[in-house]
Amino acid sequence: GDISVKFYVNQQERLEQMKLIQEENERTKAALEVKSQFLSTVSHELRTPLTSIIGSLELIKADPRGLLPDNLKPMIGIAARNAQRLAALIDDLLDLQKIEAGEMAFHFKPVDANDLVYEAVESTAGYASKLGIHVTTAPCGEDCQIAGDRNRLVQVMSNLLSNALKFSDKGGAVKVRVETLSTRIRISVHDEGVGIPRGAKDCVFGKFSQVDSSDARKVGGTGLGLNITKQIIGRHNGTVDYVSELGVGSTFYIEFDRLTDGGGPSAVLEPLA
Ligand code: ADP
Repeated sequence: GDISVKFYVNQQERLEQMKLIQEENERTKAALEVKSQFLSTVSHELRTPLTSIIGSLELIKADPRGLLPDNLKPMIGIAARNAQRLAALIDDLLDLQKIEAGEMAFHFKPVDANDLVYEAVESTAGYASKLGIHVTTAPCGEDCQIAGDRNRLVQVMSNLLSNALKFSDKGGAVKVRVETLSTRIRISVHDEGVGIPRGAKDCVFGKFSQVDSSDARKVGGTGLGLNITKQIIGRHNGTVDYVSELGVGSTFYIEFDRLTDGGGPSAVLEPLA
């Protein structure tokens, strides 16, 4: 009767639709692979000559024999700074491409959360003092080991810290705290900076996304740092999140499972693929 004909037509239509969607998915996947390969090749090809440009500029800037005319010094400084910015962008792009292709290697070992904080604070100390911002740390008094890739976690901490510095006003305070929450460890980075408007979470953790992308924006950046951070923390079975209030400040925090048995190598978990 009428109903079974309709049912049959509907089924046919649905099969057609599913086939179209599948084809579309396959095309998208192929295009993404081409994009990823392209990004990787271009980034590598850009990075190598740029490294040599940066090296040469640093040598000229150091000017050991005092040959550099005074009127050229600021320009060499500008060139060197911008070459460094370009290098940071390319490094972010390469990291992102590697993570997304599943090619970023993680070496999991017991890592002390306090040590991570000290290392990151040290690596951003020059930037902090240039901005006139005081960074204080509140380390955890107990055993606070996690299973992690030390270099990648320092990268994450440095990213959170440099954001806290970048979005602070001169004279603002930045506080980094490590605490244990029974089976978890939390590291938080607190600032008294510009804050983040409500509803911007997807934007903040997205790719190439910045809350203020206008030309009037005072600080530079790629909008990739927190996306990379989120992916690195994800590979550690950890979480990253923040609380923030516009004009008051932000606290970014990351949480991991705690390594409880003293953190011998046997306690190191293999990463989830
Ligand atoms: P970038 O810092 O290169 O712009 P990120 O991915 O690290 O990229 O950050 C994305 C955006 O999130 C920033 O552009 C900024 O708008 C917002 N953001 C991140 N950290 C802070 C912070 N501590 N205070 C205020 N805004 C922040």
